[in-house]
Amino acid sequence: MTAHDELLTFLTTTLGPSGVLCDDVDIARYRIDWAGAQGGIPLAIARPATPEQVAEILGYCHRNDIPVVPQGGGSGLVEAALPDRDTPELVISLERLNGIRHVDPINFSMSVDAGCILQTIKDAAEAEDCFFPLTLGAQGSCQIGGNIATNAGGLNVLRYGMMRQLVLGVEVALPDGRLLCDMKALHKNNTGYDLKQLFIGAEGTLGIVTGAVIKLFPRPQVTRTALIGCPDVESVLKLYAQSRRSCCDLLSAFELIPRICLELAIEVAPDLPDPLDEGHPVYILMEVAASGPVNLDGMIEALFEIGIENGWINDGVLATSDHQAKQLWRIREAMLEGQQRRGEHLRTDVSLPLSALSEFHHRAQLSMEETSPECTVIAYGHVGDGNLHFNVLPPPTLEQEAKRSLLHELELQLFDIVAEFSGSISAEHGIGRAKQAPFLETLTAPEHEIMRGIKRQLDPRGMMSPGRILPATHD
Ligand SMILES: Cc1cc2nc3c(=O)[nH]c(=O)nc-3n(C[C@H](O)[C@H](O)[C@H](O)COP(=O)(O)OP(=O)(O)OC[C@H]3O[C@@H](n4cnc5c(N)ncnc54)[C@H](O)[C@@H]3O)c2cc1C
Repeated sequence: MTAHDELLTFLTTTLGPSGVLCDDVDIARYRIDWAGAQGGIPLAIARPATPEQVAEILGYCHRNDIPVVPQGGGSGLVEAALPDRDTPELVISLERLNGIRHVDPINFSMSVDAGCILQTIKDAAEAEDCFFPLTLGAQGSCQIGGNIATNAGGLNVLRYGMMRQLVLGVEVALPDGRLLCDMKALHKNNTGYDLKQLFIGAEGTLGIVTGAVIKLFPRPQVTRTALIGCPDVESVLKLYAQSRRSCCDLLSAFELIPRICLELAIEVAPDLPDPLDEGHPVYILMEVAASGPVNLDGMIEALFEIGIENGWINDGVLATSDHQAKQLWRIREAMLEGQQRRGEHLRTDVSLPLSALSEFHHRAQLSMEETSPECTVIAYGHVGDGNLHFNVLPPPTLEQEAKRSLLHELELQLFDIVAEFSGSISAEHGIGRAKQAPFLETLTAPEHEIMRGIKRQLDPRGMMSPGRILPATHD
């Protein structure tokens, strides 16, 4: 019997026949991610249905030196969940471990299995008059385990924080097969090192999250959405600071949308109206929400007055119905599809201190256009968090090889400017494989040593998602 046969026998015995997939057709969807990146041929797809099964599989792989990679909804954007192209890996899909364990509306918490789809969690919270604030374009397919592993952010970070701030407890299958259970639903717990934080944002390199306790909030009862046309990014940032003050910290989203993104959205969804009478260089899609009877209209109107007086606002529209608000949010969704349709492009998610963002934006745009005058910069994002998706479409006429090399050059150039402004090369998507080289360059020697030490301590044989974040040969 080969080692591969033995693995398949072990998996079938442990999980039952429906828990293991090997057929080329069955495994095809686990080899491709949302962005269309293609992974290698895995040893198999294991589909455990309990935390104990996940741990048992990891224990087997640890003893037999079999590399594994956990997979959630496949919406990650740094190629971390795809099976390796050179060394066959066992993919562990969490899709069958997908229940809601308990909702506690008094404690404002919910405990869930890691494979639970984010939208399912949001719906379950709403059914208890609560709110789980993580909101992102992939919420219909991504899993909470994937959100935790990537420390996902999304649209409401400026008010509620990233996953790191939304997790009260985790259950993790460690690389050697032990199950670490820290599922206390405590809002305060100051006992020793906060181990759960190690696994949040670790992109599956330190263990597999099998369950979590997450924080809930009161469900917003009133929400207002506005689209505002502004003259430039500097005005946007001044408007942001004013919005936080004028809206009594009830601001829950503040998204930058340049004119080109609005055009891309209308290209994809021609029924979307161009919302303002004239075009503007940049727009802000803003949401204010409250869980009680607060006069949000009054607040926003006062903000509009201050913004117009100071020249930060050219024009704006406040949605007067749910339908109109949804149409405004559709612009945000459709523009992503519009970009996808333009083919391969430079996709980044950098972050900067807000006070440096306008100058960074200006410098980076000039730099991209100097190198490639025919490229198109598309810089949008969660600007209230200092997070820009500074993306660049290459000239459409370029050959594939030349396009790749230009995009690589532009990325290096952009990351140099990010470093000059003391920014980060990844605000929320993470490192995975795609950003590993530039990430390693940003690490200081002590940071590198500590990260390698943590990896070695938890995964001494290097079988857990090898080659993601840190290089596979980590010692
Ligand atoms: C349209 C779209 C919009 C997006 N918007 C945002 C956004 O606004 N903000 C943001 O932060 N991100 C955003 N993302 C990227 C985001 O990281 C993912 O959508 C999501 O967090 C990943 O979840 P997933 O279940 O799809 O994970 P996958 O893609 O399957 O995996 C991602 C990583 O997590 C690991 N992993 C998965 N499950 C587990 C587990 N149970 N235990 C340990 N490791 C695990 C994988 O190995 C991989 O390293 C967006 C993606 C898309 C496609």
